[in-house]
Order: sequence, then structure tokens, then C-alpha cells
Amino acid sequence: MLMLVIFLPILMIIYSPVKIVLGSLNGVMTFSSVIFISWMILSIFAGRGVSCGYLCPYGALQEVMGGWILNRKAKSSKATKIKYLSFACFLGLIIYSRIAMGGVRGFDPLLISSQLNFVGINSFGVMFIVLIFMVGVGLFSLLGNRAFCCYLCPQAVFLNIANKISRFIRIPSLTIKAVPDNCNDCKLCNHACPMGLEVESMVNKTETIHSLDNSDCILCGDCIRACKKEAIAYSFNIPEK
Ligand code: SF4
Ligand code: SF4
Repeated sequence: MLMLVIFLPILMIIYSPVKIVLGSLNGVMTFSSVIFISWMILSIFAGRGVSCGYLCPYGALQEVMGGWILNRKAKSSKATKIKYLSFACFLGLIIYSRIAMGGVRGFDPLLISSQLNFVGINSFGVMFIVLIFMVGVGLFSLLGNRAFCCYLCPQAVFLNIANKISRFIRIPSLTIKAVPDNCNDCKLCNHACPMGLEVESMVNKTETIHSLDNSDCILCGDCIRACKKEAIAYSFNIPEK
């Protein structure tokens, strides 16, 4: 997480959701789009684990600021629904711009060589918007650890849809296995979860061994590391529907 934050000034040139939208508006494909599509494909086998859990630099920024520095949890469960609106706007904008621009007309990896005629800004303008986005995500951490992931990130919804499809067609994927018999209700997992989930309740949802099923779980494994009773573990199998 710390390494991702240290290298964020470079990583944000390579990956930013802002570049996905601006690339679409200009009719070109970017590295950001390729990374995003790769994460979606990976989420079929690993849920939100690879991208949100370990690779997204904006998730890392929030975890360092909201979790490590401020030590604050994102609490509002109702506000997590806002990200579906964010998802709808993001998807709608991409579909509209692809139709308006006649599909993909080229590949501009970093979005620095194109004349951005459609939106009327140059490559410096793009980097300025990317920078504003990064600062905005960081400031969102004031609402709690990974507050942007919980409340606003459209990418989370895309990844969840891909993972739901994998469950539906029964492809093996990474999950968190719960063994309720081992749990002593210490709730250390609740304190460890960066997404503010009630992990202990999920573990004890039924008395039999099962997979945790929560679309906000990023499969980071912090609960596994916190549990002293081996009541939670990574598992790679065909999850229950
Ligand atoms: S940390 Fe382990 S033992 Fe403690 S409540 Fe969570 S699952 Fe149960
Ligand atoms: S439930 Fe466990 S794996 Fe999922 S986000 Fe919380 S700590 Fe990470």
C-alpha cells in the first residue's frame, strides 16, 4: 500500500478513471481502459481482490490516509448505494461518447498525444483533472478508511458484476471461507476490516462452513491476519450462488 502511494505521482499518469472517460470522449483507447478491462477479467477469478485489495493506487491512498493516519472507519451503509449512481453515470458517459465518436479510432496510451478536440482540453488539462481527482479521493478519506471505495467508486460495481457472473456460471474464484465453529466472537476481524464490514456477523451467519458474501469485501485478507482462531481463510473454489 505504501509503495503504491509513494509511486502514485507516476501511477496516476498510467492509470486513472478520469483518463478512461476523457479517452472515450476523444474516441481513443488508453492504458487506463486496458488496465480497467484486465481488472474486470481478473475479478471473474479473484473478485475485487487483485485490483481493490492490492493494486489500485487510489485505494492504497485512502487506506494510508483514512486508515493508517486518521484511523477512521467509513460507517454509513446506506451511502454505499451512491456508487450505483456513480456507476450509471460512468457507464452512460462511456457508451454515449463511444457512440458519438464512432467507436475506438486509435490508441493513445497515456492520453498525451491526442488533440482533445471533443472536450476542448489539451494534455496539460488532462493531467490537471487527473491531479484534482487524486486530491479529491485523498480528501474523501476524511470520511473514513476507503470511503471513496465504499461510497463512490464506479469500478467496484463493474468488478462485482463480473464476479456475480462468475458465480452464476460457477467458475472457481477466490473467496473468504468462514468456519463458525472456530470463532470465539472476539471481533478482532471487525476492527481489522478496512471496509468497515461486520465480519464476525458474516462468519456466524450460519453454523456451517461457508463463503463470506459481501459485495464490499475487497478480499484484502486483513481479517484473516487478525483472526487468532483460524475461523477465516482464503479459499479458491466454486462459491455458493
Ligand atoms: S477474529 Fe476470528 S475468532 Fe474473532 S470474531 Fe473474527 S472470525 Fe471470530
Ligand atoms: S471482510 Fe476481510 S477480506 Fe473482506 S474487506 Fe474486510 S478485512 Fe478485507
